[in-house]
Amino acid sequence: MLRQALLAASRSEGVRRLVERAPVTRDVVRRFVAGETIGDALRVTGELTGEGLLVSLDVLGEDTRDKEQVEANVRHYAELLDRLGAMGLGPRAEVSVKLSAVGLTLDEDLALDGARRICAAARTVGTTVTVDMEEHASVDATLRIVHELRRDFPDTGAVIQAYLRRAEEYCAELAYEGSRVRLCKGAYAAPEPVAFTAKDEIDKSYVRCMKILMAGRGHPMIATHDPRLIDMAAALAVLHDRDAGSFEYQMLYGVRPQEQRRLAREGAQVRVYVAYGREWYAYFMRRLAERPANLRFFVRSLTSR
Ligand code: FAD
Repeated sequence: MLRQALLAASRSEGVRRLVERAPVTRDVVRRFVAGETIGDALRVTGELTGEGLLVSLDVLGEDTRDKEQVEANVRHYAELLDRLGAMGLGPRAEVSVKLSAVGLTLDEDLALDGARRICAAARTVGTTVTVDMEEHASVDATLRIVHELRRDFPDTGAVIQAYLRRAEEYCAELAYEGSRVRLCKGAYAAPEPVAFTAKDEIDKSYVRCMKILMAGRGHPMIATHDPRLIDMAAALAVLHDRDAGSFEYQMLYGVRPQEQRRLAREGAQVRVYVAYGREWYAYFMRRLAERPANLRFFVRSLTSR
């Protein structure tokens, strides 16, 4: 119930204005968001890569319904990639892109064109793009676009949300040589007919999907903070004789940072998803929805001043 309410609030203009105006919100947001500018993002990327972690940078801003904003978002990614390249961070830091930020809600071809330009900019500095997965209604269009992008940029990462009832089918289709696939549980509100909504069902689906990806020939990206699933991924890697370079763990900036470093120290590839930008509201609310402790932390900081 609470999760559904927070996810509904993540789409509400009125609640957004309230949360953004709360006096301490920015301090709490900083726990999950690296800052507002490219400079902030590069500083955090430098720190994380210096500690042996990989990074995927997400420019906050989604559901863009204005062509000029779409163009500005594409240019922002191009500038970010250019500056990553200039700092020599290209190979260790990639970008994550939400297609709704590059026009998917307006027109599929517009989004494909924007994503293609970002992939081209990434290739210039020797790195990759992963296409985030968003609301369930956009899953088919997103997979179509990823398929198109992979014709020219075969290293484009796809994302599968385990809460989708069709997740196993998608994983089986994507477990081919060279295919980078991020497996996550799913962060949006999705209805029963298309998604599992009970936690244990989602977790079981995650395990089934992970088994398919780890047994396959692609490059699985195990995106979870769940200790049981992380242990299971390690066991599956042994079972399928995968070396550390053939898959990676992924976690969000600000969540289980010690675990991120522990895995990296043990020789695993760990990529931290670092979101930055001014449009942090929806991203922040999804983080609150994921874990009651995050919400308690937020409420405590509101009342402790
Ligand atoms: P949960 O069920 O939320 O948590 C499982 C366990 O993990 C908890 O019981 C606890 O032991 C541990 N844990 C979780 N959070 C914390 C914490 N704050 N502190 C300590 N322990 C904690 N979703 C999408 O829909 N589309 C995407 O493109 C997408 N990309 C993502 C990329 C990355 C790198 C990651 C990590 C997540 C992404 N997500 C995405 C979000 C994802 O779908 C989940 O909503 C989110 O990761 C929470 O799920 P979980 O697997 O961590 O499990």
